[in-house]
Amino acid sequence: MSAPTILFAAKPDRWPTYEPHLRRALAAAGISDANLTTQADPSDVDYIVYAPNSEVQDFTPYTKLKAVLNLWAGVENVTGNATLTAPLARMVDTGLTDGMVEWCVGHTLRHHLGMDTHIHGQDGIWRNGSVPPLARNRPVTVLGLGALGEAVAQALHGLGFPVSGWSRSPKSIANVTTHHGEEGLQAALSRAEIVILLLPDTPATENILNAKTLAALPEGAVLINPGRGPLIDDDALLAALDSGQIGHATLDVFRQEPLPEAHPFWAHPKITVTPHIASETRPETASETVAENIRRGEAGEPFLHLVDRNLGY
Ligand code: NDP
Repeated sequence: MSAPTILFAAKPDRWPTYEPHLRRALAAAGISDANLTTQADPSDVDYIVYAPNSEVQDFTPYTKLKAVLNLWAGVENVTGNATLTAPLARMVDTGLTDGMVEWCVGHTLRHHLGMDTHIHGQDGIWRNGSVPPLARNRPVTVLGLGALGEAVAQALHGLGFPVSGWSRSPKSIANVTTHHGEEGLQAALSRAEIVILLLPDTPATENILNAKTLAALPEGAVLINPGRGPLIDDDALLAALDSGQIGHATLDVFRQEPLPEAHPFWAHPKITVTPHIASETRPETASETVAENIRRGEAGEPFLHLVDRNLGY
């Protein structure tokens, strides 16, 4: 069998960072003879290492494509591309997961411990009225129990939080009270003092937090959204923050990114904006995922982390 041609089609500025890791991982996977390149005749390309902002938007000329291997976990900008008929794999990367766990744990602890009171209150007043509760008395819910959501749920359980989770299909996960489907959402939200969104952006998840579901949360609940902007109805969130139904929202992702300077989220006293930095794909570990999928493709084995184009994730 001839060596596969692998087109690196993420933005060119990523190539110097990825190239050595991809070459090392391909060699470790037994594919050191692969033609890994940033330029190829489309009709020769077997695999595309992809990112949604790639110059490749029309896949029609890639006539022998075996798979598109996305570098990002989120695939909402690729799933609707009708010219892509080859299998599409999303990124599952231990480095990306570790980063997301750290970010979510950090922001959960900020709110759980009420850190803002003392960080912003260095004014000579001895506010010793309340000691933070223990994690075991602070129910947390993670919406989305995939690669990232499950890891975050386990880390929070490890700290003592009672953790519930919600997914599309039924799941049994040690240490996590699981709910699923439309009918399970109310139960997942009803006790949650902190809610973390790690759902994909699909037609079924858009505005999953809206006026009705925000009202299902205990008063003063905190939202942490590193998932995607469209998961939350922005106007409903602003109304819930202003009424006190929601105590604070830490938002990493937005319907429009960068978040426009004039957007009300920036100045809102109960919103923390972070600029889509919760976590990112780490070239060293992600290259192993890419190489393993190419090894599988060459060996005729099923690809890992395939996207269901009908479900959109
Ligand atoms: P996965 O595909 O592994 O998991 C998605 C989870 O969401 C699954 O548990 C799935 O349910 C659940 N889900 C999907 N649709 C629904 C629905 N309609 N109702 C209920 N549950 C649903 O994704 P990852 O964990 O890898 O990533 C999650 C998201 O995190 C990404 O799509 C991306 O948007 C975001 N992300 C953000 C980053 C950042 O820096 N801010 C970085 C990386 C990712 P089921 O298990 O039943 O399939």
